[in-house]
Amino acid sequence: MRSITTFDIQYAHRFYGFRGEAQYLHGHTGTFTIEVEDSIEPGVNMVFPCNEIKKTAWNVLKNFDHALILREDDPLLPAIIDVYENQGIKNGHPQNTMRGEAFRTDLATAFPECRLVVTKESMTVEGMIKIAYDLLKDKLKIRKITFRSGDNVASEEFKVEGTVDRCPKCGIRLDENGVCPKCGFRD
Ligand SMILES: [Zn+2]
Ligand SMILES: [Zn+2]
Repeated sequence: MRSITTFDIQYAHRFYGFRGEAQYLHGHTGTFTIEVEDSIEPGVNMVFPCNEIKKTAWNVLKNFDHALILREDDPLLPAIIDVYENQGIKNGHPQNTMRGEAFRTDLATAFPECRLVVTKESMTVEGMIKIAYDLLKDKLKIRKITFRSGDNVASEEFKVEGTVDRCPKCGIRLDENGVCPKCGFRD
């Protein structure tokens, strides 16, 4: 069975070198749908609590929310960094509070202090799914990710194997010692 969560991110980007209007900086509301698959945990009669899936995904993916996403070779990147630097907001600002945990993978690097994500490839809906799966695959048993942005939608299915030990009272993943990090239940 699957537990499914959905949430939005607002972001700005452009397709550098693309022949079309998307080569100009513009913004979107993008919608993630993340499907997690496992057995049903009998104690709670669910696969995973959807709000916990959302929390886990959001902790990482909020780096993309109200962020500018640019490809690493886009000449706008040094120009933007220059402006942020001169304005004194490159390394953070007291009102930049909703920061995610910084990450660096082969596909993308997040700079939460200036709400910037630098990607290896153009940030299409397909590209977003590759990045998100890479960031979340060790935290969630992801069966499918769908990402929708304007008229563009992409989805990808992934193989899931085995089962994760979950708390019969909370439904969340037990830690390596078999203890629920939320309620202290011990397996
Ligand atoms: Zn776009
Ligand atoms: Zn628990």
